[in-house]
Amino acid sequence: MKPTLQVLVDPPYPVYVGAGLLEQLPQLTKARNVAIVSEQQVAALHLAKVRDAFSAMGREVIEIIVPAGEASKSTTEWSNGLRTLAQYAFRRDDCIIALGGGVVGDLAGFIAASYARGIDLIQAPTSVLAMADAAVGGKTGINLPEGKNLVGAFWQPKAVVMDVSTLSTLPPNLFDHGLVEMFKHGLLARPDLLDALLDPNLGPLSSTERLIDVVTASVAVKARVVAQDEHETGEARAMLNLGHTVAHALEAITNHDLTHGEAVAWGLLYAAHLSHLNPKPGSQEGGHVDWRPWVRRLIARIQPSVPPALSWEDVLVYLERDKKNRRDSRRWVLANAPGDPWLASDVPEQMEQTAWAAFREEVDHLPPQGPRHATLGSDEESV
Ligand code: NAD
Repeated sequence: MKPTLQVLVDPPYPVYVGAGLLEQLPQLTKARNVAIVSEQQVAALHLAKVRDAFSAMGREVIEIIVPAGEASKSTTEWSNGLRTLAQYAFRRDDCIIALGGGVVGDLAGFIAASYARGIDLIQAPTSVLAMADAAVGGKTGINLPEGKNLVGAFWQPKAVVMDVSTLSTLPPNLFDHGLVEMFKHGLLARPDLLDALLDPNLGPLSSTERLIDVVTASVAVKARVVAQDEHETGEARAMLNLGHTVAHALEAITNHDLTHGEAVAWGLLYAAHLSHLNPKPGSQEGGHVDWRPWVRRLIARIQPSVPPALSWEDVLVYLERDKKNRRDSRRWVLANAPGDPWLASDVPEQMEQTAWAAFREEVDHLPPQGPRHATLGSDEESV
């Protein structure tokens, strides 16, 4: 297999993007023991291809299958996974393949990071979100009842295999939610991609060539940022949080009735309003571009559920808790134009409020035939 791109951390690792790649996974590991970690829904659709490819070479794999859904990013599933590996006498030179969406990638990644102080991991993402975002970069982890992703490790995979033919079974709404992260990557560094992503014909059944193109372009943005700032100690990786500050607040307030993709779409709209009010200091004449129309097109395209009517004060409570904040000043990822993001740390609260009022005004005037309304959650810390 020929890598599509390399993630240039130390050591670098290849990313393969193509169709029919699951069948070629055995070429990527010589390990004596291989465990496929997956979840019930994805396993029913795609695991046999991997298992059969190993069997055809006379190799056995073991399977660790968890229920589909965020609840599987738990200490229970993590510990069950570790114990299964121990029962099969896995050693440090054995290998785990994570086959599924971001949930499986995070759980299997953390099992790989922690078993025997770290064993080889191959990420084989099957959702758009996992391909465009989660499978590259080495963030792994599980949730605690106290909060999401509170336990985890940086553990880079040995390889990432993105078989876009798996996307054909993805429900269209889940495709669209992943599309929001690709759109964010476009806003950060590939504005030329935005039109292609907004094409209403782009979906799970698009041609493999089109899917390969948009996934490759999007993951290349993520890979470049990860190479600049592997452990999120600098500013580069923080840029990936464009739209995520308000998104995390909306997810928590609605107790995840708004999905992550929906919440990021609204978070991008707020970030676009704030960017409009707060140009980058020293930006050249004409360098400041109002990118709200792009986000409006995204919202028209994916029709996210509408967030509940929240005051600025409602949202502020959640923003104060955002773990990305440095002490008492909020850091916003803004964009002076598509392709020109920057980090703003001293935005006056009055300006944040004005942007919120403009955002609310816009949400309140969505066409009446628009999407359904999300509800307020009762348990704000639930994952
Ligand atoms: P997910 O893994 O729960 O998948 C979403 C749904 O899609 C599930 O019901 C799953 O069964 C289904 N699915 C996945 N692939 C499918 C396919 N090919 N055909 C049919 N159904 C399929 O969620 P997700 O949206 O992929 O990822 C969200 C998770 O990713 C969250 O836990 C989030 O914290 C994590 N995440 C991690 C990172 C990171 O850098 N590690 C980045 C972003 C998100």
